[in-house]
Amino acid sequence: MIRILRNFQLKNLTTFGTGGIGRSVYLLKSSDLPVILGEIDDFVILGNGSNVIFSDDYFSKNILYVIPLSSSEGINIVSDCLEVDANVSSSALSWWCARKGISGFEFAAGIPGRIGACIFGNAGCFGSDFSKNLKRIFVFDCASKTFGEIDSGDIQFSYRKSSIKDKVILKAYFEINFDKSENIFAKTLELLNKKKSSQPHGIKTFGSVFKNPPDNWAGKLLDSLGFRGYKFGGVRVSEKHANFLENIGGSTSDAVKIIKLMQDRVLESYNILLEPEVRFLGEFKELPILSGDEL
Ligand SMILES: Cc1cc2nc3c(=O)[nH]c(=O)nc-3n(C[C@H](O)[C@H](O)[C@H](O)COP(=O)(O)OP(=O)(O)OC[C@H]3O[C@@H](n4cnc5c(N)ncnc54)[C@H](O)[C@@H]3O)c2cc1C
Repeated sequence: MIRILRNFQLKNLTTFGTGGIGRSVYLLKSSDLPVILGEIDDFVILGNGSNVIFSDDYFSKNILYVIPLSSSEGINIVSDCLEVDANVSSSALSWWCARKGISGFEFAAGIPGRIGACIFGNAGCFGSDFSKNLKRIFVFDCASKTFGEIDSGDIQFSYRKSSIKDKVILKAYFEINFDKSENIFAKTLELLNKKKSSQPHGIKTFGSVFKNPPDNWAGKLLDSLGFRGYKFGGVRVSEKHANFLENIGGSTSDAVKIIKLMQDRVLESYNILLEPEVRFLGEFKELPILSGDEL
């Protein structure tokens, strides 16, 4: 059953926990998604809300929010492929693969997103990303309102970016590479611990503020300018990693002020224009440069 929540507080839909009021949020099950897609226009689809920040103003587009699947749902081996529902969490996929002795997803245990969004934004870490073992995706094309498959060879993937546009990913198919389960568990745990020791967790954040510029690290540049611990309103730069913001009772506009300041200071000092990794949804009076398109 699909529930429509009117005038909903958007802070409840993102891991950063800020944003204004959304006109209508469609709360649905993964199996309802293909049905609703043919029926509504002017929508934004969310995964876990871990790479987006809503403006503090009213958001008038429809928002599609799929209720998370349980950790054992949505993953199957179909002939020689791993078939994964777009709403499976990255971490569930990673641990499922470790149990089955399937390698290639060890990096994904610490990414708090869902597979559809992770492919859309080519999420990754520790030198790996979601484009690596991908064979094809099953999508809804918002322009033609049709369903179809796209081979991964027909998608351009680069660092935290794909050429997927105006499409909703419903399923993904990955190639299967077997290894010893104990090796996969060990590597998954090692990478997860590495991530936990260098980045904030258990706190309201949206992950990296900026993408790393070529041959450099956004966190290192921001650190050198003394941003660690910097605070504006109810948002502060993490003490653990200067490329992460933490919401300690603030708003999106507090975060945007810091993001713009970071971008300006790095440009002045290093002549490097940092590109935001977080996606901005809604109307903003001011935005950092290169803030990307919303879906
Ligand atoms: C603590 C923390 C650590 C993180 N670590 C990493 C990391 O190591 N590496 C990394 O790359 N990212 C990282 N992130 C960022 C984030 O988890 C990833 O970008 C993730 O892929 C976002 O998934 P999501 O489901 O939360 O997407 P959302 O934030 O809900 O959406 C992101 C974008 O994807 C679109 N989208 C959502 N679902 C679909 C779909 N089915 N089809 C098409 N488009 C869709 C949305 O419209 C939106 O534009 C981290 C975030 C946090 C909070």
